[in-house]
Amino acid sequence: MDHGFQTRAIHAGQDFDPATGAVVPPIYQTSTFVQDGVGGLRGGYEYGRSGNPTRDSLQTLLASLEGGRHGFSFSSGLAAEDALLRSALRPGDHVVLGNDVYGGTHRLLSRILGPWGVELDAVEMSDFDAVRAALRPGVTKVLWVETPSNPLMKITDIAGLAGLGKAAGALVVVDNTFASPYLQQPLSLGADVVVHSTTKYLGGHSDVLGGAVITDSDELAAKVGFQQFAAGAILAPMEAWLTVRGIKTLGVRMDRHSANARAVAEHFVGHADVQTVYYPGLDTHPGHDLAARQMKDFGGMLSVALKGGEQAARALAESTKLFQLAESLGGVESLIGYPAEMTHASVRGTPLEVARNVVRLSVGIEDVEDLIADLEQALPRR
Ligand SMILES: *Cc1c(COP(=O)(O)O)cnc(C)c1O
Repeated sequence: MDHGFQTRAIHAGQDFDPATGAVVPPIYQTSTFVQDGVGGLRGGYEYGRSGNPTRDSLQTLLASLEGGRHGFSFSSGLAAEDALLRSALRPGDHVVLGNDVYGGTHRLLSRILGPWGVELDAVEMSDFDAVRAALRPGVTKVLWVETPSNPLMKITDIAGLAGLGKAAGALVVVDNTFASPYLQQPLSLGADVVVHSTTKYLGGHSDVLGGAVITDSDELAAKVGFQQFAAGAILAPMEAWLTVRGIKTLGVRMDRHSANARAVAEHFVGHADVQTVYYPGLDTHPGHDLAARQMKDFGGMLSVALKGGEQAARALAESTKLFQLAESLGGVESLIGYPAEMTHASVRGTPLEVARNVVRLSVGIEDVEDLIADLEQALPRR
C-alpha cells in the first residue's frame, strides 16, 4: 500500500482516463464544466478557478510526495507563498525568517505584507538563541525556514527549528525548493507546511513556472484552498500537466544532479583558481553532518568563490558554453549565475550581500566530464 517515492512520483493522482483508457491523464484545457441541471456537477467540477482535474492530479501527486494530506498548486512559487502567508497572517502578526532566504520571499513579506501590517525579523537560523530571542509567543505566527539556502548552501536544522517554532505557537514553514521532496521531507521532520517553486526541480525542464503549498493540517488547508479559489492565482491546466510530466522523473534526475554536482565540487576542491567551494556534500562544509542527517543526498546546487575576485567570477560566468548564463535553477540543463548582479542584486549593501567573487552553478544532468571541461575552458587563466 505504502509505495516508495519513485513509484508514487509516477502513479499518485495519475489513474488512466476511464473514458478512453489513455495511460496518461489528458489535459483538461477548459475554463468551465457543463452542469446536468442547475447545480448538477460532474465530479464536483464547476469552473476552472475553483477546480480542474489536471490541477487536481498534480495536487494529489505533490501531497503524496511530501507526505501531506493536502496539496495546492499556484501560478508561481511566490503566488504559493503569498496565498500561504495571507492564510496564516493578520495585520499585527509577526514573522521570523532566515537572514538568507530567497530574496523574493523577503520582498513579498517586507514590501507587500509589511505595508499591510505584518512585522518581520530576519535572523541567523543556525543560531537557536537568536531564533528563540526573535520569536514572540502569541505574536509570531510564522517561522520561515529555507534549507539548503542560496547561494552559499547553508544548512539549517529543520527538526530543531520546528520544535522552537511550535513551542512559540508559530506555523513552521519550510521552502523545500532546493532539495525537492526526493531529498528532503520537512513534514516528517516536524514542519507544518512545505512550499515549493515547482519552476525548479519539480518541473525540472525549465519550461514551466509554478508553485505549491503542502500541509497535513485540515484547518490550514481549508484557508489555503479558499485563498486559491477566492484570490485566484491558480496553476493553469497545461502548466499543471507539464509539471506532472516533469515530476515523474524527479528521483532519477535528483540522483544524477547530486552525483554531477558532487563531481564538480570535488574537482574544484584544492583547485589553483578556487578559494572556496560551497557544497554541503563536502565534509569541509559546515552543514555537512546536518545535511547528511536530514537529506537523502546533497543536491545539484553549488557555489564557488574564485581567487581572481570579481573579474574572474564575471569572466567565468560569461565564458561557459554548456552552462548557460541565466537566472533560475533545477532544470536538466546546467546554468551559471553571478549572484552579486543577478539573483542577489536587490540585497547589495545589506547583510545578505553576496561576495563579488562568487558564481553559482545549477549542475544539470549532462555528462559530467563535459561540464567540468566547460568550466575549465572558461576559467580565466591567471
Ligand atoms: C525561485 C524560488 C522561489 C520563487 O519561485 P517562482 O516560481 O520564481 O515564483 C521561491 N523560493 C526559492 C528557494 C526559489 O528558488
